[in-house]
Amino acid sequence: MRIIKSPFALTKYIKFLKSQNKTIGLVPTLGSIHAGHISLIKKSLKKCDITVVSIFLNRKQFFNLDDLKKYPSKISDDKKKLASLDVDILFMPDYDMMYAKNENIFLSSTLLKSDEEKIHFNGVLTVVNKLFNICLPDFAFFGKKDPLQLFFIKEMIRDLNMDIKIVPCPTIREKNGLALSSRNQRLSAEELERAGCLNLILSEIKSKKDLNAGRSIISKNKITIVYIKLFDIDTFKPTAKFVRNKTLICIKAKIGSVFLIDNILYK
Ligand code: AMP
Repeated sequence: MRIIKSPFALTKYIKFLKSQNKTIGLVPTLGSIHAGHISLIKKSLKKCDITVVSIFLNRKQFFNLDDLKKYPSKISDDKKKLASLDVDILFMPDYDMMYAKNENIFLSSTLLKSDEEKIHFNGVLTVVNKLFNICLPDFAFFGKKDPLQLFFIKEMIRDLNMDIKIVPCPTIREKNGLALSSRNQRLSAEELERAGCLNLILSEIKSKKDLNAGRSIISKNKITIVYIKLFDIDTFKPTAKFVRNKTLICIKAKIGSVFLIDNILYK
């Protein structure tokens, strides 16, 4: 596995690989590699000649600075995991290599409303756009666990005429249904067990076609709900209707001091 820190050096190398007709797959991550990331990486290894995994803890996309401070980082473990998977390139730039000191251009979406949404998704769109410009991927792999992120990236591809195929990948879960996330490392064993109920709540809402159906599970597991909402999966507009293969049931909850999200498609 080649480890590259310089964006310029990566672009130069990718251009060389492309001159040899190699297809390039990109898997962007914040690091602390887990089985969810690995499922995306395996898809890229299968589909593309060259797989680039980026690890970049993009502080611009963190609304909550405490969340950034506490975000787990395990670079030497990550390197071992990625090397054992036979990833071709690990791209891990420093902050100053990604952002110019006097930068004044960034991407944003007109759909974003709250400050939290703006900071997070403008940060995501800007950094993913940079990663696309640097890695020149043919395919980029993103998890359905973060459906709004997937939605905005697809909008960016369409609105900025980018010639990149986005590959949405299924959510990988613990045995108790909890979606894998780097943030899960901040939960105690007891909280990890309770966090499994997020998926249970979603399944209950799905089977009963009722947004209130998870109430008893919520009170039994003592979790704080930030929201439970229905969205149209294509437009991400809030909806009240359960339409098969169209309505995404989304949850955000706080367990201990950690915010977790999950979602399920109504089928
Ligand atoms: P992150 O490092 O959290 O930014 O995640 C990097 C990529 O992995 C994103 O496209 C996520 O949606 C995806 N991802 C994170 N957790 C999971 C999971 N449990 N299953 C599948 N994909 C995931």
